[in-house]
Order: sequence, then structure tokens, then C-alpha cells
Amino acid sequence: MTTLQDCDVLDQEDPLRELRQQFDLPPGVIYLDGNSLGVLPRATLGRVQEVIQREWGQDLIKSWNTAGWMELPGKIGDKIARLVGAGPGELVVADSTSLNLYKVLSAALRIAQADAPARKVIVSERSNFPTDLYIAESLARQHGARLHLVDSVDEIAGTLNADLAVLMITEVNYRTGYKHDMKALTAAAHAAGALVIWDLAHSAGAVPVDLKGADADFAVGCGYKYLNGGPGAPAFVWAHPRHADRFWQPLSGWLGHAAPFQFTPDYQPAPGIKRYICGTPAMLSTAALECGVDTVLAAEGLGGMAALRKKSIALTELFIELAEERCGALGVRLASPRNPERRGSQVCLSLAAPLQHAGYAVIQALIARGVIGDFRAGDPARLDEVPHILRFGFTPLYIGFADVYAAVEHLYQVLKTEEWQRPEFARQGAVT
Ligand SMILES: *Cc1c(COP(=O)(O)O)cnc(C)c1O
Repeated sequence: MTTLQDCDVLDQEDPLRELRQQFDLPPGVIYLDGNSLGVLPRATLGRVQEVIQREWGQDLIKSWNTAGWMELPGKIGDKIARLVGAGPGELVVADSTSLNLYKVLSAALRIAQADAPARKVIVSERSNFPTDLYIAESLARQHGARLHLVDSVDEIAGTLNADLAVLMITEVNYRTGYKHDMKALTAAAHAAGALVIWDLAHSAGAVPVDLKGADADFAVGCGYKYLNGGPGAPAFVWAHPRHADRFWQPLSGWLGHAAPFQFTPDYQPAPGIKRYICGTPAMLSTAALECGVDTVLAAEGLGGMAALRKKSIALTELFIELAEERCGALGVRLASPRNPERRGSQVCLSLAAPLQHAGYAVIQALIARGVIGDFRAGDPARLDEVPHILRFGFTPLYIGFADVYAAVEHLYQVLKTEEWQRPEFARQGAVT
């Protein structure tokens, strides 16, 4: 069994260990929730203060030009593009993931139906993040299309046929951490004549992504998870250059106009991805997002996303090994893929009977001990197939091997002593 001393050696030998200095982690906290809200980079406070005091406070409206505010969504877009295998000028930061998905799914449906009007089906996974499904449900109604949800990855192949307009998949599943094979699935959907949208919410900054290499059609992703952009940070959107100019996206706001400051009454979309911008960018949170993206780019001199992925796999492998050895007899089960190639940067656990309902309280007890993960409810009617999940994200920028060891030790204590049974851990907050 791997010991704490082994973990200390792994941390000392970790070529990425210095990257942790970019963050102010609160003392006594092991933060395994960077997949939901990344931690605060040290640079963010000073940068946002500068935007408020100097750029806004002193230079006022001039800052749209003098401080580069107008260019910032594209400039950060170019930085994110480096992390997801897109080219410069192809990706912008704007709005939320939900809104960007609305834009690209509308465009994809219009392109698919212009080329082949009979194609009326959007396929996604029932286990996809709900906002993706809700947006697709709404657009399916507007476009006379149908949303078809599959219950397992194996069912996808059977949906790739002449009815399929758009395959809309989140590369790393938010519940299980299952990581799709982007290249193979994109090629299979293209062979069936359909378009593919990838949601990179749990991929960008977590796993190497190669949108161009996979020949993907559209992508969206989240700024506040592994990109450390801050709560509610702007999201990003990418369209393959072969599609970017084909249609307006439906949220045709003035900053997606070819010449916004001519204030013409009619809409002329900007060329390329710029048309996916709608209204005025939220400058304070856009500035914070850049600091977060820079913390990931800081790995570029140290092996980049490949090195981050290598460490992430080592962390999740260690967590699984220790959790099973130490807590397996207490009912802990792995709910993520065992094959690291098929797993994102998170590990999900479930609890076997008689603890199948204890997940929420176990997570609360861990949080009280300073180990922050989160809980994702299962399907109460089918807990054997869709169990309650204890979810732990491992951001290699700031999580080390000794953290993993300590987290499992806390989990062991919470289960062994039945600390989770304490009444305060049963109370449910609005956000889980
Ligand atoms: C986190 C997440 C979102 C978040 O959408 P918002 O519009 O930022 O609330 C969307 N989709 C997926 C797959 C996610 O994991």
C-alpha cells in the first residue's frame, strides 16, 4: 500500500509542484471541488482591483480603447484556444455555457437541416448536465426536431443514422467522470452525415483537447471550473471556421455586428467567431477569467496539458487505490471508469447498501473536516443503476499526492466512526 511517506516523495519529485504557488489556498483545506468552482489565483485580486481603480475609476469609458477591454474576450479566447486545440481567432469568451450552447446548437441545427431537411434528431446522454438537455429540449421544439437521450455510451452508435442532425455530448460526464473518445465519436457522427457539438465544461484545463485534430464542429466550455475564472466567470464558444460564417447565431446582439459603432438599424454579422458575441462583456469577471486561464498556461513551460494530464491520472489512480484499500470494506465503491484513459480529472464514489443513502451526510462530514468534495444525487427509484455519488475533482495545478492520502484518511474516519450520522450533516443547503 502507498504510504504517506511515499506521497511526500511523489510531491517532492513532482515537476509541477511550483504551480501551487499561484494560488492562495485556505489553510487546512483539501480542495477537491475544482471541477465545480476553481480556487482563487493570487493574481486575481490585484488585477480586478486595477481594473476597478485605474481602468474604470480613473480612465472611465476611455478604457474600452486604452485598456483593451474590447479586445479582451478575443485575447482570452486565443489563450483558451491553445488549451483545446483551436486556432487563433476561432474562439471567444462570452456569456454563460448555457447561452453559448443555445447559440451553437441553433447554428448546428440550421446547418444540418439546410443540408438535409429530413434530419430532425438531436442525440445526447440522459446523464448529461441538465442545462444542456434543457437548452436542447427548447431548441428541438423551435426547430421541429426531437431530442433523443441514450442511457449508455454503447447506445450512441445505434443513433448515428440518416435522421441524426446533431450529436451533442459533454466530453467528460459531470456525474461519473466518463471521458468520451472525441476523435472516434466525431468521425463516426460525420460518417453518418451529422454535426457534433462538444461541451468542454469538465475538459478545458483538465484534459488535453484537440478540437481541430478531432475535426469537431462546435464547442462550448466553462470558465469557472478548471480554468479558475471565478464564480460565474464568462464561458467560451468555438465554431470550426468552416461553419463560423454560415449562419447568424440567434442572439444577434450589437457586439456581434460587423461594425457595432456604426449603429445601423439592420444586423450584419461580424465575420468568424466574433458574431457569437452578443452584448457588452462583463469586464470585471472577464479580467478575473484571464488570471485563471493564465494559471493553466503557466504549465506550458513544464510540459503543458500533457504534463497536467499525467499528474491528474497519477492523482486519481492513487485516490482509487487508497479509497478501495482503506474504505472498500466500509462500503465504498468506484463509480467512475477504472481505465484512466476513459476518466476525466475526477473520481466518483458510491456507497453500497446499507449506506446507499448516506452519501450526502458523508460529504458534509468531510467538508466539516476541511476535505471539500461534492454530492450529486442519484435516481431514488433506481439507486443500483444511478447511485448517489460522492464526487472528488483533482486539479493537478494545486492538489498534491499527500492531499490525496489525507483525503482518503478523512473518508475512512468519517465512515469508520460513523461521524456522518451526526444530525448537522443531514441538513441540506440550497447548493449541493
Ligand atoms: C458546469 C456545466 C455547465 C454550466 O452552465 P452555466 O451556464 O455556466 O450555468 C453547463 N454544462 C455542463 C456540462 C457543465 O458541466
